[in-house]
Amino acid sequence: MGSLKVVVSKFGGSSMKDASAIQRSAKIAADHKSSLVVVSATYGTTNQLIELSKIAQTETWEKSQLIIDSIKENHRSIASDLKATSEDIEEIDTLLAELETLAKGINLLKDAPLKVTDRLQSLGERLSSPLMTIALRGIQDKKTENFDVRKVMRTNDQFGKGVPQIEEIQSLCQNHLLAAKYGDQTYVTQGFVGATADGETTTLGRGGSDYSAALLAEGLGADLLEIWTDVAGIATTDPRICPAAKPINEITFQEAAELAVFGAKILHPTTLAPVQRMAIPVFVGSSYEPDAPGTWIKAQSDHQPLVRAMALKKDQALLTLTTPKMLDSFGFLAKIFSFFEKHKVSVDAITTSEISVAMTVDRETLLNKDLFKDLETVGTVQTEESLSLVSLIGNNINHTPGLAQRVFTAIHNESDPINVRMICLGASRHNFCLVIKEDQASLAITRLHNAFIEESK
Ligand code: ADP
Ligand code: ASP
Ligand code: MG
Repeated sequence: MGSLKVVVSKFGGSSMKDASAIQRSAKIAADHKSSLVVVSATYGTTNQLIELSKIAQTETWEKSQLIIDSIKENHRSIASDLKATSEDIEEIDTLLAELETLAKGINLLKDAPLKVTDRLQSLGERLSSPLMTIALRGIQDKKTENFDVRKVMRTNDQFGKGVPQIEEIQSLCQNHLLAAKYGDQTYVTQGFVGATADGETTTLGRGGSDYSAALLAEGLGADLLEIWTDVAGIATTDPRICPAAKPINEITFQEAAELAVFGAKILHPTTLAPVQRMAIPVFVGSSYEPDAPGTWIKAQSDHQPLVRAMALKKDQALLTLTTPKMLDSFGFLAKIFSFFEKHKVSVDAITTSEISVAMTVDRETLLNKDLFKDLETVGTVQTEESLSLVSLIGNNINHTPGLAQRVFTAIHNESDPINVRMICLGASRHNFCLVIKEDQASLAITRLHNAFIEESK
């Protein structure tokens, strides 16, 4: 019908590293006629802001000033390389002044509530989006505007990890971003950042820009979501762990979601839910090699291999709760999970026996004293640290005879044995999960990759 395609393009931190990376990213957005460009903070800036909020609480102001100066210098020099106008520079300086004021407040009070750290961290993306706007304006005729995402990215007030309010986001997008939808304007906006109904700034948690882009694609009813990063798409495993990793041309939403949830950093764990709801296809590619084939994530894929990829999730702990009360008792698991719900802790892998339950959680959960107090009301809790989750992701995994044997054969090596602490198989067609000591997990991935990807046709 000749109707315009609505494309949402997200550029991660490494695609926003310096002026030339931003220009390269802007060219991709212009070539692909993006309606909405969602950006992360420039590479390393979020880490610097987190460091700043810690240092400002504990150290002298001079130490904070060093970080602030580095952020200032970096953003001003990128702006000048991009030939920013004096108006642009003024906009960036206003944001830098806000950054300094917030850090001074933290330093003075020696305290940084999550509400304040969210506001501080939002400055990473609020500073990078004007830079992308400048670069894009320079190469396309279409009207290009830096848009404050807080007008549409409504979250609850769980600072540090705001929960997006889907229906409100949809209607706010329809109210504020219609010009993007009808092709007369490109908006550049911030990933990771949101706001409560009262207008307080929130963030969606580390790596959250992917999720922002997917929510905005859903809100706009986009035809395509592009995720541009530093690798040419999703690979069979993290290329940093296993250089033999191969690019994946096509993968289903379900498999990609399992990969993301089980640790593949390439996508934030919750990215795919919004686009899956609306069956919006997703392309993942490298802004450094925009013509490489990349990966398409779709509702269906013609090729459905038994093992498509493997993921590694580090920093896991295993909680084993043992109680004689579990014998013949009802509602025991319900009680345990009500504690996890109460303390907002998510469990990835779980196995049960007659009198005990073992569950993996993120290591930081070990600091949650209140959770442990609750759990100890039903039994004794043992904890093990320094573990990783290693997951095989594919299709029909829970209905394939002999798969477990193949997995254990692949992992086993007489002279360098790997101890598998726990396995989870059966719940999902798409996932087989192993809990392994942190220092052996990469080796396990390499052996599994060798057996299931490199050696299989
Ligand atoms: P961005 O800054 O663009 O959001 P990230 O660093 O968050 O980028 O994600 C990209 C990184 O994800 C890659 O550099 C790679 O090391 C890692 N990664 C983990 N698993 C995979 C995988 N299966 N395929 C490709 N990259 C992966
Ligand atoms: N800048 C944020 C982070 O580093 C969000 C993102 O890049 O996705 O976590
Ligand atoms: Mg990321």
